Amino acid sequence: TPLIGVLALQGDVREHLIALAAADAVARPVRRPEELAEVDALVIPGGESTTMSKLATVFGVLEPLRERVRAGMPVYGTCAGLIMLADKILDPRSGQETIGGIDMIVRRNAFGRQNESFEAAVDVTGIDGPVEGVFIRAPWVESVGAEVEVLAEHGGHIVAVRQGRALATSFHPELTGDHRVHALFTEMVRAAG
Ligand code: GLN
Repeated sequence: TPLIGVLALQGDVREHLIALAAADAVARPVRRPEELAEVDALVIPGGESTTMSKLATVFGVLEPLRERVRAGMPVYGTCAGLIMLADKILDPRSGQETIGGIDMIVRRNAFGRQNESFEAAVDVTGIDGPVEGVFIRAPWVESVGAEVEVLAEHGGHIVAVRQGRALATSFHPELTGDHRVHALFTEMVRAAG
C-alpha cells in the first residue's frame, strides 16, 4: 500500500487525507523535509498558492519538494496545488514561487468575479462518466508544452493535466465524496512502484 503525503502548510489537507484513505492509500500530513523523505508520493491541496509558497520557504521544504518532483515522485495538485506544480504563473504575486514539474502556464483566479465559485460536470480522460467539478477561485491552464497531456477542459479552458507522474486539476475532487480522481492518482503511485 503506497504511503502518500499531503502537504500540510495551508489549505484543505484533512479532506485530501480522507479521500486518499477512501482510495486505499495510507495518507499522512507532510510539513518538514524529514517527513517528505518518508512518503512515496504527495498531494498538494487547495488553498492559497501565495501563502503556500511563502510557508514552503519558511519551513525549508520548497527546495526538497522541487528535488523530489524532479526525481520523479508522483504528485497531485488541486487548485492552489495545480498552481504550485506549474513551471510558470502568468500573473504571480510578488515573491510567489512554485515547485514546478508541469510544463504549463497557469492563470490564477481565472474564472473571474461573476463566477468565483461554481460546480460543473467535467469529463476527465481515464475516468468513466463525468466528475463533479467544484471550482473555487480556480485557476485555468493557459497553455501546455508538448509533454503535457490535457485530461479535461471546461468552457474551452484546460482544467486537468498530466505530465509523467504529475497530475493536476483546477477543481477539488476532495470536496465531493467522489474518490475516483484520488483512485486514479493512487494507481499512478502503484504503477511508479
Ligand atoms: N485562488 C487561489 C490561489 O490563487 C486558489 C484557490 C483554491 O485553491 N481554491 O491560490
